[in-house]
Amino acid sequence: MAAGANLVWKIGDVSITRVVESCNPIAPTGLFPDATAEAVARHASWLAPHFLTPGGDFLLSIHALVVEAGGQRILVDTCIGEHPLPGYEALTAGPRTFLDDLAAAGFARETIDVVLCTHLHFDHVGWNTMNVDGRWVPTFPNARYLFAREEWEHWKGLGGGDFAATLDDAVRPVIDAGLADLVETDHRINDEVRLESTPGHTPGHVAVRIDSAGKRAMITGDLSHHPIQWAEPDWPMSADSDSAQAARTRRRLIGEHADADLLVIGTHYAPPCAGHLVSRGGICVLETDD
Ligand SMILES: [Zn+2]
Repeated sequence: MAAGANLVWKIGDVSITRVVESCNPIAPTGLFPDATAEAVARHASWLAPHFLTPGGDFLLSIHALVVEAGGQRILVDTCIGEHPLPGYEALTAGPRTFLDDLAAAGFARETIDVVLCTHLHFDHVGWNTMNVDGRWVPTFPNARYLFAREEWEHWKGLGGGDFAATLDDAVRPVIDAGLADLVETDHRINDEVRLESTPGHTPGHVAVRIDSAGKRAMITGDLSHHPIQWAEPDWPMSADSDSAQAARTRRRLIGEHADADLLVIGTHYAPPCAGHLVSRGGICVLETDD
């Protein structure tokens, strides 16, 4: 892979392209309070080198995935964008080249047909809108934006806040513009792409399932932030709405897909970003192709 090249996966007739906003080290306990150095070291043999740095940090990638299926261009999650986030300056500093990078990958913003947010936390909705003369306007003018109704109702009721702090800037303008469809958590987008209810991290969280020509993949959203959560499915994550429910969701998926032919593509996984769930020594690990 050339430096700066986008990762692309082929799932039957479907293509999935990763466009990166940022990828930075993060202390494991910054994601999972239980991820002490000792606990992480137990998994170093399969996490390194892709998912664990020599210094013992995790890598947190923030990227979008463009799914080309059924003649549609579906943008799954829209990163952080241009929204100022008090307390998260490190994540939002620097040039914001995502839209240029998306266009350079062949996906000019006017050509996106569907935007799907797996949930409404700030790092999944950011580029839903862009700042034009001080106003937040939809970035993808020709897209239908899909939000799970349950997810929208939850955060709307709370008035955003915390991890949905950009609700008013990155979600509400899309709804006000008439570009949003509030869908059920098992919504089917086309013959090859559908949503799957995966609650816990947030109440209306969805994964994206791709089935094409006998091949299968799942885009995780934040049902898994890092591959270690397959081996430690009960670990809470600091931004979970309901960690016990999130654990049940992961355990269900392990039961359904461990040692099966499903490519798991992580929304926050560092390159190579994807692998298969494999039983090894009584736990489930993510096995990459290299
Ligand atoms: Zn996230």
